[in-house]
Amino acid sequence: MILPSEKNKLSIESNVKSYCNIFSSTFESALGTNITDNTGRTYLDFLSGCGSLNYGHNHPELESELLNYIKSQGIVMSMDFYTTSKLRFLDVFKRYILETRDLDYRIQFAGPTGTNAIEAAIKLARKVTERSNILSFTNGFHGCTLGSLALTGNKYHRGSSAAQLTHVHHIPYDGYFGPHIDTSEYLEKLLLDPSSGYDLPAAIIFETIQGEGGVNMASAQWAQDLQRIAKTLDILLIVDDIQAGCGRSGNFFSFEALDIEPDIVCLAKAISGYGLPMSLVLLKPEYDIWDAGEHNGTFRGNNYAFVTAAKAIELFWSGHHFQDSLIVKSQTLAQHLAKIADQSGFQIKGRGLFKGIELGQAKLALAVQQQCFESGLILEICGPKDTVIKLLPPLTVTDQELALALSIIESSILFASEQMAVL
Ligand code: PLP
Repeated sequence: MILPSEKNKLSIESNVKSYCNIFSSTFESALGTNITDNTGRTYLDFLSGCGSLNYGHNHPELESELLNYIKSQGIVMSMDFYTTSKLRFLDVFKRYILETRDLDYRIQFAGPTGTNAIEAAIKLARKVTERSNILSFTNGFHGCTLGSLALTGNKYHRGSSAAQLTHVHHIPYDGYFGPHIDTSEYLEKLLLDPSSGYDLPAAIIFETIQGEGGVNMASAQWAQDLQRIAKTLDILLIVDDIQAGCGRSGNFFSFEALDIEPDIVCLAKAISGYGLPMSLVLLKPEYDIWDAGEHNGTFRGNNYAFVTAAKAIELFWSGHHFQDSLIVKSQTLAQHLAKIADQSGFQIKGRGLFKGIELGQAKLALAVQQQCFESGLILEICGPKDTVIKLLPPLTVTDQELALALSIIESSILFASEQMAVL
């Protein structure tokens, strides 16, 4: 709740704010899946900082690791100096994430947010191939700085910058024309036809599960075809795992289930494990042709994020237990959602703990979102026409929280559908 005495404090904030227009409480504290406002009301948070809080809010073991580090006067800001916390992060990431998956990537620290990683990735692909064009996909979302925005499909975000968004072609994503048209065939034909008007691109970039674009999933076959096409034509394949990575899809990397190995991978959002800003570009060693400092940025050394990221990887990814728990939770979520689909006829999308319900109408999706909020559940709407409600619970969500959230969703869909039928 915004107290009357606080209203004048808000008038100074730009109109560009968005989430707070929908979730109008003033939030004060949070733990795990729960977030509490300044009146003491607690909500289940199934938005999770748009997929940044995969281990929930203020995970106690990450918190105590960070507090100890702060108390020891650990370095906060170090640009790209070597620090003990950075070396520790590099070590655990290599050991528990890369080596256990037999992956060989160099790690580039980009500026702190996802779009910084995307900008670095496409710049590198252009440098490696000496080509400028990039292929991205319908309904893809890659960030709001100019390079990333050029890759992004959404008209609303492209807005008045459209004229500057150049050197990108958008290709229909998997399933864009329905299940019977293979858009990778279409892509291959365009690239092999010397008269198609498509210049050979530097890179193909895609999300294996499109987050903002409506929880659309690429099939393994389609992704493997992209990889084959890219390899044949010396095009770099980039996976934007900023929202779908770090366990969200059921594996640490979303592309593991598709059996592909991209040339470049972008990670951000949940990589720090604690909601601290940090982004990474993983690149195949043969493409690490950067000159020193050629691509830089002041904030490439958020040591607080290194500390929590390293601890999160040790805690959750050094054995099989957490990943096994994700399989069980994903199955529970899928079963509950299948029941909702059976009753309502709405389509369920996504995999792992990255799910969407296609409600078909923006008005209905908004009404469901508002009703969920009234009932104590925060979740986001996505899709090109804002018709999909998106579920991004923390990966540490308990069975009880999952059951409660799903019962709120079920009753909110019922309530909102009835209200709309009356209107
Ligand atoms: N890529 C994907 C898939 C995203 O979902 C987002 C943000 O939602 C971004 C890139 C941009 O990340 P950031 O907002 O941290 O710049």
